[in-house]
Amino acid sequence: MLYLHIPFCKQKCSYCNFHFSTSLNFKDEMISAIKKEIFLRNGELQNKNLKSLYFGGGTPSILKVDELKSIIDEVLKYFTFDREIEITLEANPDDLDKNYLKDLSDSAVNRLSIGTQSFFDEDLKMMNRAHNSSEAESSIKRAQDFGFENISIDLIYGSPTSDFEIWKENLNKIIELQVPHVSSYALTVEPKTALNQWIKNGKINAPKESEQNREFYYMSDFLKDHGFEHYEISNFGKPGFHSKHNSAYWKYREYLGIGPSAHSYNGRNERSWNIANNQQYIKLLSQNILAKETEILSEKDRFNEMLMIGLRTIWGVDLSDFDKNFGDEIREHFQKEITPKMEEGFLILEDNHLKIPEKHWFLADGIASDLFMV
Ligand code: SF4
Repeated sequence: MLYLHIPFCKQKCSYCNFHFSTSLNFKDEMISAIKKEIFLRNGELQNKNLKSLYFGGGTPSILKVDELKSIIDEVLKYFTFDREIEITLEANPDDLDKNYLKDLSDSAVNRLSIGTQSFFDEDLKMMNRAHNSSEAESSIKRAQDFGFENISIDLIYGSPTSDFEIWKENLNKIIELQVPHVSSYALTVEPKTALNQWIKNGKINAPKESEQNREFYYMSDFLKDHGFEHYEISNFGKPGFHSKHNSAYWKYREYLGIGPSAHSYNGRNERSWNIANNQQYIKLLSQNILAKETEILSEKDRFNEMLMIGLRTIWGVDLSDFDKNFGDEIREHFQKEITPKMEEGFLILEDNHLKIPEKHWFLADGIASDLFMV
């Protein structure tokens, strides 16, 4: 799978700490640098037949459709596309006007991940999103009118500008609009964000964990009652609409990440990440120099990562190759740590897969980190 990071956004959302720039001055140079990186690094992916291609960001829908197409053409110089390939574009509602969708429906993009976040203006204003509630809804309808069936929307729960009733209405919209996939995250307060500053200044209340917990479990029951599978803590899909790209990531498959700040994994023991600086990225690539750092994962790193990713999913951690992949020290540590957690009901073993029962998913990161080897 191939990930392409487009590091531009119209404006900065109050809660966001991703890598992007709000200046489009070097957009052309960035596109050239991304193409150069595809050329220089295509050999790193063993499987040349792509099952997924993902434009993430930032806001990839800030690019014109012709620019997206030219990047896809570059990818096709080095890779073939599987017949069932999933090509996702992360898009913001305000970018999805008629003309854009018309052009996009004529491209290879076949899945939209729309940054809806909420269907309520008060939430959207606090988040400093570039769209309003009416665009949140109309963008989805328009995309469907232009033939996009495979649509995911992002929704944020636990915002201090909403409450449980508003959250229920947000969820009802998913059903009303017949959206088949949802990625939903709790509002988190990251350092160096406007949201963090507002909370410090007392301008806004901090999100309440108890409210987030309640909204999370309500969402899970509600969406399952409406035919969704809760297949990863933050992801829900109707049958046939699970994200191929993210599912492969959660199953530890190799992926190549292109663009500033993008991460890559070779499916075994090597991880790399690109520099999170647009200017330097462009400059280095123009000199045919890769802008990445590489880390060889130790046995401990692989073990911890396996738990962190696997325990957040419905499939859990596959233990079939555990003895082959890990030595005595880790195996003993693992056995010692999982026993009390299993007795307490926080972990279960099913078909040689270690899982967290869904009723404890809200605590998954804590449960996984308790098992870490440090
Ligand atoms: S559009 Fe996405 S990447 Fe850009 S600032 Fe907002 S949340 Fe961050």
